[in-house]
Amino acid sequence: MIASTAQLARHGREHGYAVAAVNILDDLSLRAVVEAAVDRSAPVIVQVSVKTVRSIGVELVTTMFRLAAQDAPVPVALHLDHCPHRDVISQVVAAGWSSVLFDASDRDLATAERETAEVVTEAHAAGVDVESEIENIVGVEDDIGSDEAVHAYSVQTLVAVAGRTGVDLLAPQLGTAHGLYTHTPVLLPERVADLVTLTDLPIVLHGGTGLSDEDFRAFIEAGVSKVNISTGLKLAYMKAAQAHLAKAEQTGKWDPPSMFRDISAAVHDEVVGHLDRFGSSGHAQGAAAAR
Ligand SMILES: [Zn+2]
Repeated sequence: MIASTAQLARHGREHGYAVAAVNILDDLSLRAVVEAAVDRSAPVIVQVSVKTVRSIGVELVTTMFRLAAQDAPVPVALHLDHCPHRDVISQVVAAGWSSVLFDASDRDLATAERETAEVVTEAHAAGVDVESEIENIVGVEDDIGSDEAVHAYSVQTLVAVAGRTGVDLLAPQLGTAHGLYTHTPVLLPERVADLVTLTDLPIVLHGGTGLSDEDFRAFIEAGVSKVNISTGLKLAYMKAAQAHLAKAEQTGKWDPPSMFRDISAAVHDEVVGHLDRFGSSGHAQGAAAAR
């Protein structure tokens, strides 16, 4: 069934687990993510980057998602990942997606607050949730972002802006970075703990690929209830394709459907691992019934 992103993340926060938010790339990865959630009886969030939206188109993504999710026996939400572009936000809101991440981290604070409030008004009128990012999460992901920490604020400022703008989920800087880690990050689960004392809003962790089970546990125990996974899925996808193609070269058997099966299996296993790691397995029914 198709679910609200904020509803799923709130249920996670109330029950001490995090919902996996997985960036899909095409129909193969979309179906593998939904099937993994069904297998583990877990709620899941399907995320799409602006780059993927631009390559496939809003209409096709929306249709593929509806077909894959509407009859699934687990709640599945459709979320637009990091989007600084107001026109893309408007298209996705009009198409009835579950939620958007309005990434205003490239704006100064006053502009970020004003535009975020505008996005919330537009999105909520259509029943769409808004994740907010005004501090930038380090690293470039699908052409969006910066390797420099440009904007950083106090937790009090983050909560005050979230309250004034009316957003539904909060994506603060937590010491993680997008992409693969080139050196050990300084993680900030204590920042989550500080935020949790100030707000009921679900807290989102970006840059999850490469963190250890203990890192995830510390973040989730502190109160994170949506964890984004993008790089890990890309690696699983591409390495399965690479292994298949190497085999095809040897055997002379060039059969795309069998490569698709290998990719699906690899993506499925990657997602199952995260659903279990984040404690979300078995929570599908509870999350679907929550409000
Ligand atoms: Zn991110």
